[in-house]
Amino acid sequence: MDPAHSDQPPIERNMAETEINPRYQLSLWTAEFIDPLTERRYRQYVEPTVARYLRNALLIWASLWMAFALTDLYQFGLSETFVEALVVRGILAGLIALGGALVSRRPRLATAGVVVTPLEALGFTLFFLFYFVTPAEDIPWIVGLTMVMIIGLFVLLPNRLVLSAGVAVYAMAGTLLSVAAVTPDTTWSGMTVLALILMVPVVSGLFAAYRFEAVRRREFAALERAQAEIEQRRALEKELQRQAATDPLTGACNRREYERRFEQEVHRARRHDRPLAICVLDLDHFKHVNDTYGHNAGDAALVLTADICRAELRESDILGRLGGEEFVVILPETTAAAAAHVAERLRVQLERTDVVASQQRFRLTATFGVTQLAEGDRSINDLVLRADEALYEGKRTGRNQVRAA
Ligand code: GH3
Ligand code: MG
Ligand code: MG
Repeated sequence: MDPAHSDQPPIERNMAETEINPRYQLSLWTAEFIDPLTERRYRQYVEPTVARYLRNALLIWASLWMAFALTDLYQFGLSETFVEALVVRGILAGLIALGGALVSRRPRLATAGVVVTPLEALGFTLFFLFYFVTPAEDIPWIVGLTMVMIIGLFVLLPNRLVLSAGVAVYAMAGTLLSVAAVTPDTTWSGMTVLALILMVPVVSGLFAAYRFEAVRRREFAALERAQAEIEQRRALEKELQRQAATDPLTGACNRREYERRFEQEVHRARRHDRPLAICVLDLDHFKHVNDTYGHNAGDAALVLTADICRAELRESDILGRLGGEEFVVILPETTAAAAAHVAERLRVQLERTDVVASQQRFRLTATFGVTQLAEGDRSINDLVLRADEALYEGKRTGRNQVRAA
C-alpha cells in the first residue's frame, strides 16, 4: 500500500517509512544508524542536549560519590583509613567534575565518548580498591554497590552503547578478579554465581539503554523526514506560485502578476513622488516570421526577446507579456525620457541578435512605445493605451523605432 495514503496518523506513518528507508536503518547490535552520515547528523543534533545531560549527571555523580564518605566514616571511624578513602574519593570526584567542565566547554566530547568512557573505566578501577580495604564480611555490600553503579552507567551517563557495554564488562571482570583476590577460598561455583548476579545489571542496563538509543534515533529519523517533507512542500508551493505568476513560454509575468506589481509600484511612486514609466513593445512583421520560419521558430523568437529584455533591464524592472508578440516593461524610478533610452537599448540589442531555431538563423526588430505615469491614470491599461498609440505611430512610420507618448 502506498504509505502516503495509509490510514495511519502522520507521525506513525513517518516512523514506519523511516524504518524502510535504508538511510535510517539501525544496527541490530549497537542501535546506531548503519549509515555513517545519518549517525553523524544525529550526534550533531543531540550534542547540546547530551552535553547538558552529561554535565549534570557527572556533577550529581561527583556529589553522590563524596556523600558516600559518610559510609566510610561509619565503617572506619575518624581513622587514617577514612582519610585515605576521603582522599581517593576527592581525587575521583575532582576528576569527574573536571570531565563535566570539559564537556561544558566542548560539547562534542559528550557524543564522542572519549571523555566518558575513560572516566567510567577509571571510576570502576578506583572502586575496585575498596575490595582490598573493606573487611571480608562487607564485600557483599561492595558487590551490591557495583551492581547499582553498572545500572547507573547505562541509565545516568549518556554514552555510546558499545562503549558503555565495554565498561560494564570491564566492571564485571574487575569485580570478579578483585573478589577472587581478596577471598582466596572462593570456589569456582561461587564465582560463577557472582558472575551471574553481576550479569543482571549488565543485561538490564544494556536493554534499557538499547531501547532508549533506538527510540531517540527513530524519533530523529521521523523528524528529518518531516522536515524534508515540509521543505519539499515549500518548494512545490513556491514553484506553483511562480507558475501562477508567469507566462510558461517566455517566463515573463502574466497579466495578473504584472497588474499586481504595477499597483505596488504606483503606490510607491505616488507616495514618494517618484516617476514611473512603462514601455510596450511589439515585434515587427511577426506573422511573416511565423509564416517563413514556422511557429516553433516564432516561439524561439519570443523567448529570445524576453531573454534580451531580462538581460538588459534592472532587477527592479518588471517584464510582462501583454499577449501574442507584445510585451510590457514596468520601469520604477524612471521618467518617459529615461524609458525611451532603455527602449532604444533594447531595440538595438534585439536588432543585432540572431534568432537560431529550427536550423535557421534570422533577425528580428520591434517597435516601442513609452509613457510615464500621469496624475489621472487609474490602471496599467491607461498607460498601455497611451504607449500603444505611440507604438502604432512608430509602426505607421517605418517600424523598428522608439516612440514616446
Ligand atoms: P506588425 O509589425 O504590424 O506588428 O506585424 P505583425 O505581423 O507582428 O502583426 P500582428 O501583431 O497582427 O501579428 C501577431 C502575430 O503573432 C500573429 C500570431 O500568429 C503571432 N503570435 C501570437 N502569439 C504567438 C505565439 O505565442 N507564438 C508564435 N509563434 N506566434 C504568435
Ligand atoms: Mg501585435
Ligand atoms: Mg507585431
